[in-house]
Amino acid sequence: MTDHLLGDHLLSGIEPGPARDAGHSGAPPRTGFFTDTSVCIGCKACEVACKEWNALPEDGLSLSGMSYDNTQGLGASTWRHVAFIEQEVPARGGPGAPARGGPLTAEGRTQLPLAETSDGTGGGLDEGTGGGTGGDLRWLMASDVCKHCTHAACLDVCPTGSLFRTEFGTVVVQEDICNGCGYCVPACPYGVIEQRPSDGRAFKCTMCYDRLGAGQEPACAKACPTESIQYGPLDELRERAALRVDQLHAAGVTDARLYGHEPDDGVGGDGAFFLLLDEPEVYGLPPDPVVTTRDLPAMWKHAGTAALTLAGGIALAFAGPALRQLGAATVRRGRR
Ligand code: SF4
Ligand code: SF4
Ligand code: SF4
Repeated sequence: MTDHLLGDHLLSGIEPGPARDAGHSGAPPRTGFFTDTSVCIGCKACEVACKEWNALPEDGLSLSGMSYDNTQGLGASTWRHVAFIEQEVPARGGPGAPARGGPLTAEGRTQLPLAETSDGTGGGLDEGTGGGTGGDLRWLMASDVCKHCTHAACLDVCPTGSLFRTEFGTVVVQEDICNGCGYCVPACPYGVIEQRPSDGRAFKCTMCYDRLGAGQEPACAKACPTESIQYGPLDELRERAALRVDQLHAAGVTDARLYGHEPDDGVGGDGAFFLLLDEPEVYGLPPDPVVTTRDLPAMWKHAGTAALTLAGGIALAFAGPALRQLGAATVRRGRR
């Protein structure tokens, strides 16, 4: 029983059925997001759709002064965040130029192969999208979101049950149950969930649980004009993502890589994973995230051993004098 609760299966390691293990018998196939940043155009339709569907308040709209990023990160009122990363890179073909990007247009802009759309069309070439290099500057654009981790530490540490695993395998926080303790905030290895300053309650993306229940796709995926955000069964998304990486590599975009797709990584794989065009750190993502509750079973075992040892010592401290008195009385009786 204890092994079932504390073992590798539920807190870390490969977890094939998080919804089933959360008690959803007959759960549908796990669904999630594949965000292909190579076709993101930075239009922020996803951010706006999320705000509108979930009636989220604006949260500052403070331009960083470094880019067109006016929300700067995920937060209690920003559940989708489109990162704009400007990079100075050597001009393609120039000295020290990396082998990134596809063929050049006559104007010197990079062409990336388009991903196939869900209706099977597309697959041509697109100019100057997220991975383009125009001389010595390129923009990377990426729409970030809660990763809906297979092993979600936010959920593990929540004392009220406000955070829960849905039948779709996603992780949802319920604003009417959250008591504002804030335990989930440092537990998240991605820095996603945040408390709203006005009342302390925690908020994050729900993967539009209300829409999923009605057979609708999440609002952000529905609004994305380039299908950078794709929603569907996770297994299918992983296959589609692997094909997309192969397509980009064949076109010379050798920096393309997947992030968060491996079921054996530190969080058991993400329910929302990404195709990136550079190192995860460039996008503000941790390179090797680990579920922060992974070591709890070992810690509890050590704490249990220490408690038993302490209890034994205290018992001995009380029992020692009593045993000595008993021994002395026995000796006295023997002499008589
Ligand atoms: S990314 Fe953070 S907030 Fe989202 S499910 Fe994982 S631990 Fe929870
Ligand atoms: S899935 Fe819904 S809640 Fe999550 S970022 Fe998209 S629109 Fe917002
Ligand atoms: S993910 Fe889609 S909707 Fe969001 S900014 Fe990129 S292209 Fe626009």
